[in-house]
Amino acid sequence: MRKGVYRYEPNSLKIKILNNFTGQQKQQIFKRDQNKCVICGKVREDGVELHVDHIKPQSLGGEAIVENGQTLCATHNFRKKNLGQTETGKKMFIRLYELSKKKGDRELKGFCADILRVYEGHDINSHIKWQVDGSRDAK
Ligand SMILES: [Zn+2]
Repeated sequence: MRKGVYRYEPNSLKIKILNNFTGQQKQQIFKRDQNKCVICGKVREDGVELHVDHIKPQSLGGEAIVENGQTLCATHNFRKKNLGQTETGKKMFIRLYELSKKKGDRELKGFCADILRVYEGHDINSHIKWQVDGSRDAK
């Protein structure tokens, strides 16, 4: 063995900040959310996989604290990860909501409304205004 010789490994130099929920925190979050997706209300018995999601994404400095966690089914977790609860995401959902309203696509409209309610409920990007239209029958 050649002692004291170190290989240069660029990847090991990257500082990775692990900011994930612990198993215990996840259990607390699941329990608080009554083991259902906060967007669609599906439970494991419906055949969905439940995940704990960072309400404010890690990439935006969201902390791994119970208050920043929410229960999402795999579908909504995936959609949220792709679109993000970012300003762009919110604006996009508002646009999509308006579009689906115009097109009369109730399913899409309902989905967008659900997502936007999550934004509003958690006061995320509340400077971007969104108004649910009068008839809340979109589901
Ligand atoms: Zn869901």
